[in-house]
Amino acid sequence: MGAFRTIDDLDVAGRRVLLRGDLNVPMADGRVSDTTRLDRLAPTVSELAGKGARVIVLSHFGRPKGEPNPEFSLKPVVPALEAALGGRTVAFAPDCIGAAASAVTEALGDGEVALLENLRFHPGEEANDPGFARALAALGELYVNDAFSAAHRAHASTEAIAHILPAAAGRAMQAELEALSKALDDPERPLAALVGGAKVSSKIAVLENLAARVDAIVIGGAMANTFLHARGIDVAASLMEPDFVGTARDVEAAASEAGCALLLPEDAVVAAALAPGVETRTVPIDAVPAGAMILDVGPASVAALKAALGGWRTLVWNGPLGAFETPPFDAGTVAAARAAAARTKAGQLLTVAGGGDTVAALAHAGVAGDFSYVSTAGGAFLEWLEGKALPGVEALRAEG
Ligand code: ADP
Ligand code: MG
Repeated sequence: MGAFRTIDDLDVAGRRVLLRGDLNVPMADGRVSDTTRLDRLAPTVSELAGKGARVIVLSHFGRPKGEPNPEFSLKPVVPALEAALGGRTVAFAPDCIGAAASAVTEALGDGEVALLENLRFHPGEEANDPGFARALAALGELYVNDAFSAAHRAHASTEAIAHILPAAAGRAMQAELEALSKALDDPERPLAALVGGAKVSSKIAVLENLAARVDAIVIGGAMANTFLHARGIDVAASLMEPDFVGTARDVEAAASEAGCALLLPEDAVVAAALAPGVETRTVPIDAVPAGAMILDVGPASVAALKAALGGWRTLVWNGPLGAFETPPFDAGTVAAARAAAARTKAGQLLTVAGGGDTVAALAHAGVAGDFSYVSTAGGAFLEWLEGKALPGVEALRAEG
């Protein structure tokens, strides 16, 4: 992928810098309940402020549908943002454009920080409206985007504005782009992908893109059931998508055409129902009893995966290998996660993982910190796995 600009390419001292963050944080009882996104943005804010910039933070929050709605105000996020910044004061503007915004941004001194009200209170944001982008751009002189998780959307604050002001990636965006690039654009090979989760139907484009680019795909989770059925294996009462058996066959054909090995589970942990404390059995994959559901990969599958891991240099992972939220069906995912983490710690493997449930599964396994990179970007991470160009990233590419 072409080079993109970073903060190193901007002279920010004394300048008003519009910083697009993702402050779409979970709230409980009017307070931020998970500060991960604030913590990821904080280093960029601190670096800019430390260099004497006047930092103006922009973000969306929830889905207010283009009109002001106090339920979706960013104001309650201010104290948590101040805490994430080590106690630095953050001014708040009750609108993100116009006089209410400029009154706050004009009052900023060098090294000071302001947060503007929810971008999505204006319909121009999601419409990528040039007039709205110009109104945002009028508040600053430089633009920095640190919201990879919003980069798959061509919105005024992620796309149009980057063509109006000198634009660069913030440090979190930069780290994400560098990690993803090392994993898929310019990987050390052999490169493998671990794809699991519930449905083939939600990951068709991911599977197609990976089949063309990686050396091996290991399929787990309920999505493996559709592939197993396509190979003529009886998956009994397991989750399976009959309408996507053809898709599974197409992916198998594309993989074999591209010289990509496709590995399916050899055994499974089955039960009569997905419930805690239910009686389980481990069976060979071609011996799933009538009425039983496949809820995790079995020990032979995990052993095969571990053996294969030893030969890989790069691993991309999206999707749990079983119904990990309900023990003991977390065992396969946890064992695979720990094995990948150990190889990473030993310097033998570059590991990049992402996806809402995948991040939760790695945290559950206690190894999220041991992977080379864990993306919390959700939709943007999946679109990147699909090989799509992300508008918010494309807009940061260095010209020429
Ligand atoms: P991500 O959010 O990481 O992209 P997905 O949403 O695709 O992952 O899939 C995660 C879900 O898949 C989890 O809720 C998990 O319980 C479910 N799942 C995985 N394997 C199975 C299985 N064998 N049977 C039922 N559900 C499964
Ligand atoms: Mg999910």
